Amino acid sequence: MARPLEIGDTILLEDNKRRRHMITLSAEGEFHTHTGVLPHTLLIGKPEGTVARTTRGSKLTAFRPTLSEYILKMPRGAQVIYPKDLGPILMLADIFPGARVLESGVGSGALTMTLLRAVGVTGSVLGYEIREDFAETARKNVEGFLGTDIPLEIEVRDIYEGIPAEGVDRIVLDLPEPWRVVEHAEKCLSPGGILLSYLPTIGQVGLLRERLEDSAFGMLESLEVLHRTWHVEGQSIRPDHRMVAHTGFLTHARLLAPNE
Ligand code: SAH
Repeated sequence: MARPLEIGDTILLEDNKRRRHMITLSAEGEFHTHTGVLPHTLLIGKPEGTVARTTRGSKLTAFRPTLSEYILKMPRGAQVIYPKDLGPILMLADIFPGARVLESGVGSGALTMTLLRAVGVTGSVLGYEIREDFAETARKNVEGFLGTDIPLEIEVRDIYEGIPAEGVDRIVLDLPEPWRVVEHAEKCLSPGGILLSYLPTIGQVGLLRERLEDSAFGMLESLEVLHRTWHVEGQSIRPDHRMVAHTGFLTHARLLAPNE
């Protein structure tokens, strides 16, 4: 944590209007804005949180992005799951250090990174993604934040056709027809295992619930997470006027023992 900013680091620069820019530090690099130029050398060797000035005197604060800041700034192929849902997914799917997690689709890798952080070095994430180009973007995104020494395997395949894996502890789905995965999930999950699905529309939730009711899964729950930011300025303290009213619904279930 105490490591000073180094060449090769991905960092965020925040300007006085709170706009954020993600850059990679290099020896000859320069950050150009309409309020002047900032040579990277003014940041290299400095601690995080350093405030530097551009050639025209405007201030930029430099720090390494947190996971959620990185997710909001990284290149996207597919739409990502946002931090407001990623945190609750870790809790509801009970992702623990050492867990063997299966994820599908991998998309841009936002959920993948979140899962990798939670399973730690003793766990693993196996991702199934149908599109090769998305699988590649995801790997680049994940490695850009976590490095290459990570317990991640991404396979280009259609999860609706089956899951050739065993002893999976948790399955996390972000794809359009998760009800087509239930039957495969019953076979590859360990007893007590958890299936969680993120879905944008309630019709999809209805179809998934119907399929789960008629399966080896129990303890079903569906919910949405509301996140309202507040404006705090002197005596003016109130909810912000705008909020993201909807992202997706979370549905989770546990694999029960077979009936005797
Ligand atoms: N959770 C991801 C975004 C996933 S978007 C993130 O946070 O970045 C949904 C992904 O599911 C897309 O990349 C899509 O190509 C993939 N997908 C759709 N159907 C699939 C299937 N049957 N098998 C595997 N992947 C699938």
